[in-house]
Formats: sequence, C-alpha cells, structure tokens
Amino acid sequence: MAGAKNIKMPASDEKHTQPTTPAPRARVPLIFELSSEGRRGVDLPAREAGAKSGAEILGAELCRANLDGFPELSEPQVMRHFLRLSQLNFCQATQFYPLGSCTMKYNPALNDEAAGLEGFAALHPATPPRLAQGALELMARMESALAEITGMDAVSLHPAAGAQGELTGLLMTRAYHRKRGEPRHKVIIPDTAHGTNPASCTLAGFEVKVARSNKRGFIEAAEIRRMLDGDVAALMVTNPNTLGNFEPEIQEIADALHQRGALLYLDGANLNALMGVAKPGHMGADIVQLNLHKTFSTPHGGGGPGAGPVAVKRHLEPFLPNPRLKKTASGWEFDSNRPDSIGRLRAYHGNFEMIVRAYAYILALGGEGLAEVSRLAILNANYVRKRLEARYPSASAEPSMHECVLTHDLEERAGVSTFEIAKRMLDFGIHPPTIYFPLVVHGALMIEPTETESKEVLDNFVAVMEAIYEEALSEPETVKNAPNTLALRRVDEAEAARHPILRWTAPGR
Ligand SMILES: *Cc1c(COP(=O)(O)O)cnc(C)c1O
Repeated sequence: MAGAKNIKMPASDEKHTQPTTPAPRARVPLIFELSSEGRRGVDLPAREAGAKSGAEILGAELCRANLDGFPELSEPQVMRHFLRLSQLNFCQATQFYPLGSCTMKYNPALNDEAAGLEGFAALHPATPPRLAQGALELMARMESALAEITGMDAVSLHPAAGAQGELTGLLMTRAYHRKRGEPRHKVIIPDTAHGTNPASCTLAGFEVKVARSNKRGFIEAAEIRRMLDGDVAALMVTNPNTLGNFEPEIQEIADALHQRGALLYLDGANLNALMGVAKPGHMGADIVQLNLHKTFSTPHGGGGPGAGPVAVKRHLEPFLPNPRLKKTASGWEFDSNRPDSIGRLRAYHGNFEMIVRAYAYILALGGEGLAEVSRLAILNANYVRKRLEARYPSASAEPSMHECVLTHDLEERAGVSTFEIAKRMLDFGIHPPTIYFPLVVHGALMIEPTETESKEVLDNFVAVMEAIYEEALSEPETVKNAPNTLALRRVDEAEAARHPILRWTAPGR
C-alpha cells in the first residue's frame, strides 16, 4: 500500500476528521456455527393439561418431527449475530456513498420521527377516508408541494418507484393519444438514457427510437425534429442528463414535440440539481416523475419501498391513476369515477410512510432550503470533479450539475479497470460510485457526492482516488485483487445471480 500511506484511514481517535466508518474486516460465523445444543432464546410455558398439541391444531403434515441441525442460541446471541451481519453492509448511514444517479443523501432522523407518529404509523390502509382526514390532508398538501416544485398542475402519489412512475407516465401518454383518436407507437429516447427508460417504454407497449447525442453529450432539437413523425408519442429525457449536464436545447425540443402533437416526458429522478432553481414545467415538460427516495431523502431500502410520484400538466390530469383525492363539503374523499383514468396502479395509495417522510423533509427545508440543497449538491460535484481532474478527467467539458462523470487512462497505462478501482475503494471504507454508466463514456465513474457531505469527506475521497491512481501504476496487483481487507473478497456476481444458493445445508447432508 505504498501509494496509500498518506490516506487517513478512519480511526477512533480522529473524532473531528473521521470521514467514514471502516467496513468490518472479520468474517462473521454462520448462525449454525454459533449453535450449542440445548441453548434456548425463549422458554415457552409448559402445555396445560388437556390443551391441544401443535400437531392437533395445525395438522401433523405441517409439523416437523425432526429439527436436527437447527441453531440453538440465546436471545442476546441472536441479536448480536444479526446486528453484526447488518454491519457488513455499506450504507449511507455509515459510509460515503457517491453512487451516481442514485442520490444517496443522508435520510434525516426528523423524517422518521414524523413517520412514527401514531396517527400515521398505525393507520390501516383500508381505513375509511372520513376516519383518515389528517392523512389525506397530508397527501393533498404533498401533491401541491410537488406541483409547486416541478411547475406542474397535478400530481399522483401512487407509483412505488421511479421506474413505476415512468410506466405510469407512459401509460398516460398512450391513453392521451388514443383519446385524441390518433394512437401513436414510438417513443424517442437519447442514447445516454437511464436503463429503466427503454424498459418502461417496452412494458407500456411502445417501440423505442434512439436519438444520438452530439459530441458534447447533448440531444439537439434538429435531431429530434428529424426523427419526429405522426407516430411519435413522446420524447423521454433525463434533465440533467446522465452525464450530469443540463440539456441546453430542452425548451426548443419541447416546442418541436408539441408542434407535432407529441409529449415531453421528463425523467425527474435527477431533480437534486433543480429544486428551487429550475422547474421541469417551465422547460415544457408534460409529465415528470420524481424519486422521493433520491431527491427527497427517504430511504432507498434495498430496492424499496420507494416512491415515484408523477406530475402532469392540466391536459393530462384526466388520465392520472385512480383514485384521486377530492375535496367535498364533508372533507377529503377518494374519487374513482374518472372515465379516462389509466386505472389503479397498485394497492392503496402509494407508499404512504415515504410520503410522510418526504413531506417532513420539504417542510423542514422550505423553498429556500431546497434551493440551497441543489446549489450545494452542484458545488460538491464540481468540487470533486475539479480536484480530481489531473488523474480522472471529466468525460464532458460542460459544467456539471449534481454529479460528475469521470474517466481515466489506467486501463491503458496499467491494465487496471474501472471495476478494479471501484473494488479498491471498498478497502478505504468508501462505497464505489456508479461505474460503466452512461454507456457512451469509456470506463465511466459517475460520482454524485450529494449536498449532505462535508468538505472533509470530499477531501478524503479525493485523497483516496489519487492514492489508488498512483498505486495502480506502482503496484497494480493491489488494486487488481481488491478488496483486500473486507470480510468478503470478490464474489462471482454472475454465478450468484444465475445459481443462487438460498438455503444452508449442514456439512455431510
Ligand atoms: C434512479 C433512476 C430511475 C429509476 O428509479 P427507481 O426508483 O430506481 O425505479 C430512472 N431514471 C433515472 C435517471 C434514475 O436515476
């Protein structure tokens, strides 16, 4: 680790500069290995005389006769075991997590406090509206807040993720064109798009047409105009795009689409650069989805529960999913009597507890606070980009928004790949950035620090990246074999996905 010796490894005595927590290095034994015969976590009371046995209640076929090999542990042992397992993970609560496009920002504890209020947390989703007026009021206010932030007219909180928001928007696009008596079949997507965009189009029954971005990584109005015909239903575009740059011709593109009767779908997952600064509605967007688990600080939670509300302009409101909130003389109600709606998207009304958290976040920051979030997110991304530019130049000459996409020459100079650089970061307690995305950038490292990280954390990250670069040149094997210090080294990801082993079997069985 010659090149790495100037790096601050997190140490317990460095209270004020400790950038992140080191990842656990020891292997955690399996729970089966901790077992000792006869140990119990709970002592059940003896069965009363005359009471039925388990087999009599459940049926003998549901009762196992033999629990050989079943782990036997005390309650504290079980607690420690699972807590330790949870600590093997890299997470935003313990590590710097600059995973580009994912906005892994700090999830304020205040959000959880709001979501934990009994009236929210203990509310059954099937509670009749008249007994849940407070919750419905919160949803209505959240819809207004998101409409204000995006510059759109109406919002549905139903979708459970960004990708489901995309699907919702595309189903509405289809319904909209059908209603006008001219069904359309194609959606244009730039070659830099997030992978969920073409997937959502295909799911919604559209044919994808790829628009080539120009040398600067942007889509051009001229290219869109060339591709437009009467069969194009919409353009789906991320702004800022996946290079982290603002699409300069977005308004001209919106005009071109609208002239030909097509819609602009704006993928709003990257709103962390725009909040309080610019509104998709002003850019000509007809539909935009928001990822509350990114921009609005709710947990990503290992793939869920997320929340991906969709916001639309007035002409698309009739197509929003059912039911909609409606204010009547006696209070809030759900209205499903909407003939043009694309219908129900999921059970109940969105991931309500995530809506509460995100609403708490919006209230806590206010309009000025949200704008400050965007400005700091942009500042942090540009700071990292500038500090790293000698070794990891930006893939784009344009100014970065909330994330920067960097590249490097270590493949050519030392045979060290982006994948290996990412693995080496784990040794320093840093979650790797998104890699090899966008696909148009060679060996891409897509870094999104978010606004919640301090200068110390960013400086440490820069030092780690510099050290890895030097190390790749002086002792490439250390980088190529990384991670060298974690409980688990390289796992065979393809094999794990194709042939997962989900059940432990005792040796010799
Ligand atoms: C994260 C992301 C999505 C998908 O959102 P999920 O909530 O993960 O389904 C879509 N587009 C962009 C640009 C994203 O960054």
